[in-house]
Amino acid sequence: MIRLRGCFSLDWPEIKGTKILNASDPLHAKEALHFAATILQKGGVVAFPTETVYGLGADARSARAVGKIFAAKNRPGDNPLIVHVTGMEQVRELVLEIPPKAYLLGEKFWPGPLTLVLPKSDLLPGETTAGLHSVAVRVPAHPLALALLELAALPVAAPSANLSGSPSPTTAHHVIADLAGRIDAILDGGPCSVGVESTVLSLLTAPPVLLRPGGVTLEQLGMVLQEEIVDLCRNGVEFTGTPPAPGMKYRHYAPRALLYLVELGEKQEERINDLLADLQGRGMRPGLLLTAETAHNFPFTNHVPLEIVGSQRDPKTAASRLYGALRRLDNEGVDVIVAEGFAEEEMGRALMNRLHKAASRVIVAPGNRKGPKMR
Ligand code: AMP
Ligand code: MG
Repeated sequence: MIRLRGCFSLDWPEIKGTKILNASDPLHAKEALHFAATILQKGGVVAFPTETVYGLGADARSARAVGKIFAAKNRPGDNPLIVHVTGMEQVRELVLEIPPKAYLLGEKFWPGPLTLVLPKSDLLPGETTAGLHSVAVRVPAHPLALALLELAALPVAAPSANLSGSPSPTTAHHVIADLAGRIDAILDGGPCSVGVESTVLSLLTAPPVLLRPGGVTLEQLGMVLQEEIVDLCRNGVEFTGTPPAPGMKYRHYAPRALLYLVELGEKQEERINDLLADLQGRGMRPGLLLTAETAHNFPFTNHVPLEIVGSQRDPKTAASRLYGALRRLDNEGVDVIVAEGFAEEEMGRALMNRLHKAASRVIVAPGNRKGPKMR
């Protein structure tokens, strides 16, 4: 752990040696930001809020500092990190060239939940990009994230601030649950607004390739670029050999409980009901993750822990609540989470991508293209 002495007046509370820096309180925000920025400058690791999820930051130029991120998260070393910067000027030193499409997208969506993959310069060590010749960059929109990047004045590598594989953290409490005792500090700025990770778009090829759907939708990207984008994230696209984004091969976002995803389509409620009865019949404890519309039709679920994520008509809100709901159901001690699927369009694409990656079984709609996935 990094120890800072002398220059800070506030004595921040600690959990297992991790400082909890309360930046929600305007009286202390400045001091909290200074403290966090100093830790980054000294090669430490700090969790901080972004508009997507909480990130776990370290100096992207230092192999030693980013090594602490991989260690704290138990992240496989071949999964590269996203580098966070204050704007296009800072991107310049990290990449070989900035293509016109990057300017166009940066202008429209930065600061915001869009990550661009570009050819990498020599400034960053191989550890940050997992040995790739490309780097993923993003300008976050959260005011605390931007203020921290300004103060630290260095590119900050930051994956989500959770243990690898578990649901991403959307509050400081989620970070504490996963990483207290493993990192130097947590900058607490309240809940994240978007709630799912950024969209990752590779500009290494023409046409560009969507590597992860997220806070900026495919539809929005298409409007700006006015060209077709190759969507490698459609559920059901299988890879042979090396996946285009290393992160694609790992199970992600998964609660401790098994997750069964009931795809949207004909007889969805009936399929949920049958599944519930089957699980209970086998002595298992299910939990439900439903929309308000569907929950309304399940009046008999009073003994089943239920999380309502929003409405079918509002996948954006549902996405923002997803990870918190998964963690709460885990805390209820359920064996299986039965989750309702959404339409795969707009923010529903990001939501379904996370649910599919977390799922150990998919109950497809009748007439849908694929057989059920079992694990
Ligand atoms: P995380 O930071 O854990 O939310 O994940 C970052 C995502 O971006 C992962 O899926 C990575 O595989 C992907 N990524 C990061 N850098 C690159 C890169 N240079 N090329 C392709 N994908 C990348
Ligand atoms: Mg992550």
